[in-house]
Amino acid sequence: MPEANAKLNAFPVFMRVEGEAVAIVGGGEEALAKARLLGQSSAVLRIIANTAEAELLSFIAATGAVHIDAAYEAAHLEGATLVFAASGEEALDRRVAADARRLGIPVNAVDRPELCDFFTPALVNRAPVAIAIGTEGAGPVLAQILRGRIDRMLSPSLGALATLAASFRGAAERLPKGNGRRRFWSDFFAGAPARAVEAGELSQAHDAALDLLVSNAPAAGHIALVGAGPGAEDLLTLRAHRLLMEADVIVYDALVPEAIVAMGRRDAERLPVGKRKGCHSKSQAEINALLVELGHAGKRVVRLKSGDPLVFGRAGEEMAALRDAGIAYEVVPGVTAAFAAAADFELPLTLRGVSSSMVFTTGHDLKGNSLPDWAKLAISGATVAVYMGRSVAAEVAGRLIEAGLSPDTAVAVVENASLGNRRRFHGTLADLPSLEARADLTGPVMTIIGDAVAGANFERSEPLAAHRHEGVANTAAEGVEQ
Ligand code: SAH
Repeated sequence: MPEANAKLNAFPVFMRVEGEAVAIVGGGEEALAKARLLGQSSAVLRIIANTAEAELLSFIAATGAVHIDAAYEAAHLEGATLVFAASGEEALDRRVAADARRLGIPVNAVDRPELCDFFTPALVNRAPVAIAIGTEGAGPVLAQILRGRIDRMLSPSLGALATLAASFRGAAERLPKGNGRRRFWSDFFAGAPARAVEAGELSQAHDAALDLLVSNAPAAGHIALVGAGPGAEDLLTLRAHRLLMEADVIVYDALVPEAIVAMGRRDAERLPVGKRKGCHSKSQAEINALLVELGHAGKRVVRLKSGDPLVFGRAGEEMAALRDAGIAYEVVPGVTAAFAAAADFELPLTLRGVSSSMVFTTGHDLKGNSLPDWAKLAISGATVAVYMGRSVAAEVAGRLIEAGLSPDTAVAVVENASLGNRRRFHGTLADLPSLEARADLTGPVMTIIGDAVAGANFERSEPLAAHRHEGVANTAAEGVEQ
């Protein structure tokens, strides 16, 4: 809420301009900027400029705006709904403003607030939805920053959703006033129709809205399996952020930082289900059952997993449970830990002439006698990213060397990739076993092995073999899931 005495000196309204003439006087960049802004509307632009710059001329040619190629006269403004004095010359802008006022047409003069009847906003355009940001001419840069923030918050398909909503207005009038109608619209904008529009399925969205109209059933639940990225808040995708802000319930794993969970809707219910040290954690079967139960209860759930949900995230089991229960779900990718680790080391995962394939693996499948398939790939030059690999580092190194990979093969290790407290180590395959004994590594650890690793930047990393600490490997921090 604004302070009690904070009053707006300029009040926002939305003016009808469809088919109306809007006059812009000027031939330079100020006029072009206004023409571009107004060109987002269905107004008929009338540009008065006897010396128009090339870019403005091509704008006119491309949009079919009316060009009055003559020295300005007051008569050029007649019949216009709005006038923009954008000549860049003070005397002319003053004349245009005075003429417009005499004709009773609201006028805006670029960069001359004292001559303006109205200000133009920074605009977020999701036609037919528009968000106009005004600062009363005080801060165009501020307006642009706000514009950027709001733009990122809103789905690109918001306009299509609003158009669909408009087509259902009449039908919705027949619903009982009050709760019934309100529920229809809230399910429309936050439920299946909105999701179908987002996925580009307009006819499905239409059917979903029809279903909502005729059924009295409570809204169906929906589970989004969302990748939270490796930890840094700004590595979350815009889609993930949007879903978090719409969620009724956020079900999250131990490796997802609190700061990311906190980016969710303020009154969302937050359920940690992860394997955090010393806490009771739910079994996978319990998590599956919880998701199904929330879905049946009609909740919009974000199931937040670290990194990408489809990489060592047990998403396969959750999706199967949801499918069996007939609950709708979607998957939102995230930046997986291997990519964050590679970025922290400026490490090319594929490198021309060195490595053209990569393996995502966990060392935990090395227990058997036969060598897993990925070991063969490693030997033929693939870059290998080992998830949950700290407590099996010796096993991984031993088996790979035994299978023929050189002990001198480069290795990069990062704890807490992407986060401020990350630690980086480098060495060779022969050094890798030392990782197991390092009790000082309490965060998640990613290990990358391969010849491409030699191309990384080791300026900010410590040698792996240098420290040899005694201690017991801590599997809780690894988020080990099998
Ligand atoms: N779905 C996740 C992986 C979950 S398995 C993803 O796509 O990244 C958990 C393992 O991921 C950890 O044991 C560790 O190997 C790795 N990991 C997750 N976050 C990490 C981080 N910030 N830094 C290093 N490794 C990380």
